[in-house]
Amino acid sequence: MKTVRDIADLKDKKVLLRVDFDVPVSDKDEIQESFRIKKQKEVLDYLVSHDAKVIMVAHISDKSVDDSFASLVPQLHLLLGYEINFIKTVLEIGAYLANYAGPALLENIRQNSREKENDPEFAKQLAVGFDIYVNNDFAVSHRNHASVSAVAGLLPSYAGFVVEEEVARLSEVINSPKEGKVIVIGGAKTETKVPVIKNFMGKAGRILIGGVVANDIMKERGTDIGASLADKNSKELLAGLDLASSVLVLPKDFVISENKILDIGQETEKEYADIINNASMIIWNGPMGMFEKLEFAHGTRAIAEAMITSKASKIIGGGDTISAVDSFGLLGKFSAEGGSASGGNFVSTGGGAMLAFLAGEKLPGLEVLGYYEQ
Ligand code: ADP
Ligand code: MG
Repeated sequence: MKTVRDIADLKDKKVLLRVDFDVPVSDKDEIQESFRIKKQKEVLDYLVSHDAKVIMVAHISDKSVDDSFASLVPQLHLLLGYEINFIKTVLEIGAYLANYAGPALLENIRQNSREKENDPEFAKQLAVGFDIYVNNDFAVSHRNHASVSAVAGLLPSYAGFVVEEEVARLSEVINSPKEGKVIVIGGAKTETKVPVIKNFMGKAGRILIGGVVANDIMKERGTDIGASLADKNSKELLAGLDLASSVLVLPKDFVISENKILDIGQETEKEYADIINNASMIIWNGPMGMFEKLEFAHGTRAIAEAMITSKASKIIGGGDTISAVDSFGLLGKFSAEGGSASGGNFVSTGGGAMLAFLAGEKLPGLEVLGYYEQ
C-alpha cells in the first residue's frame, strides 16, 4: 500500500483528500469530540507544506443527511490551524481549483445519495481536475462508497497517515503472539463483535466478554438472563463459536436492576483486571454495561483503569467505548504520549472499520489502495 510519503513531487499537485470529520455535534452546532478531526492535521500539514493544492471530502452522519458542514467550518479552522474554504457542490470543484486559495472542504458528501451507491459517474465528477487521491479516513474504509472506493480507481491513490497507522497498529494486534494477548469485547452490537471473537479464538490468550454480547453468549449457553437485553438472532450469530472454550471468559457476577443485567459485578471486575494486568497486548472494544447511567458505569470504568495500570500495549476503539473513557476523564491516558514500553497506546478512529479489520474482513477502501496485494 503506497502512502503519501511515496508521492515523488507534490508541488502544485491537486489532491483530493478523504478525511474523517464524522464527529458528534450538539444542537447548537458545537463539535462535541474532536480527536478524529485533530488526527487529520498531520496529513494536511504534510500536503500543504509540500505545496499541494488540497480539497477535502468527508461525511457527517450525526446530523440528518441534509445537514451541512457549513456551520462547522470556523471550528475546523481552529482545530486544524487552517482557514478552510467551503465548496458547496461537486460541480464547483473545477472553478475552485482554477483559482485555488488554500485548503478547502467539500460539503457533506452524503448529501448526494450516489455517494453510498458507489456510483461510478458520481465518482468521475468528484475526480475531475485532480491529480491524486489520498484516503485518510480509516473509519469509513469498510464502506464501498464513491469517495472511498470508486474514486480510487480513477486517480493514483495513496493512504494518508491515519490509514497507515491504523492498519499498522491493528495488524500488530492480529500478528502478536497469542500468549499474553487479551481481547476485551462488550457493547451492544453483537453482530459486529462476534466475527472478531471468532477470528481471535485461536489468536488470543483470553477473550473477556461483557455488555450485551455476554448476555447473548450466556443465553446460548442456557443461562437464564431474565429481562436482560439480547440480540434476537443470537443463535444464528453465535453459530460456529465454541461457547465452552476456556479462551472465552464470561462475567461471574452482575449489577442487576428490574431483572436486567446492566453491568458486570465486582468479582468479575477483579478477575478481568487481573488478566489485564498480566497481559502484554490488550485491545478493547465495547462498554461492559450501560455506562451512560452512572450506577452502571462501574464495570466499564474498572476496565479502563486496569488497562491504564497494565504494562501492556493497549488499543481501544469504538464510538461508545471512547466516549465512556472520555466521560471518566481517562482518554488522555490512552494517547501515544501516555504510552508504555512495547508499541505503546493507541486510540483507534475506527468503530465498524476497526471491527471489520480485526475480524479479518477485506475492507473495500483498503483494497483499492492495494493493501491486500502484497
Ligand atoms: P462501541 O460503540 O464502543 O462499539 P456498542 O455500540 O457496541 O459499543 O455498544 C455500546 C452500548 O452498549 C452502550 O450504549 C451501552 O449502554 C450498551 N450496553 C452495554 N452493556 C449493556 C447491557 N448490559 N444492557 C444494555 N445495554 C448495554
Ligand atoms: Mg456504538
